[in-house]
Amino acid sequence: MPTITPKTTANLKKYRSKRNFKVTGEPEGSAQSKGASGQLLYVIQKHQASHLHYDFRLEWQGVLLSWAVPKGPSLDPAVKRLAARVEDHPVEYGGFEGSIPQGEYGGGTVLLWDRGTWTPEVPDVDAALSQGELKFTLHGKKLKGSWVLVRTKGYGGSKKESWLLIKHRDRYASEEDVLEKKPKSVISNRLLPEIASGTSGR
Ligand code: MN
Repeated sequence: MPTITPKTTANLKKYRSKRNFKVTGEPEGSAQSKGASGQLLYVIQKHQASHLHYDFRLEWQGVLLSWAVPKGPSLDPAVKRLAARVEDHPVEYGGFEGSIPQGEYGGGTVLLWDRGTWTPEVPDVDAALSQGELKFTLHGKKLKGSWVLVRTKGYGGSKKESWLLIKHRDRYASEEDVLEKKPKSVISNRLLPEIASGTSGR
């Protein structure tokens, strides 16, 4: 059954209900999703916190749907990468690179590893998310082509939704280790230590 009503308001309600904007510095977020001309943002942030992980984010309904991927994406369709669903982030978060003070939530260093746009490969993204299988195309600087996020039954005692990030077979599939081969920031050309120390990249 196709969903016709936009779910923008419902999504932002959920985002806002998790935050006290008198306390947090995070934006409340735009009330409007983008118009017909707007493209949907796609971002991966390499995040050296207590554990290194890659934050995978897809703009949808005015927010960034977010997954923490401990091992990062793989271009190899035979490799399934665990992706823990985390709370939606503001779209403005997609431009963030820098240091988060130690002792704060997510304290450490954030490197903008890839950025671009994405296109759903399904007619109804909200239905795909609730059914636990979202197919999409990435138009990033490093990641391109067709991918899928599939929800799993979960593992261990984690309360976070557990998904798998998998590359589909297309001309962008490869056994090359893209994390190893292209480690630098797409906006500053820096590596994590350079961002952490505030020096410039080359
Ligand atoms: Mn993170």
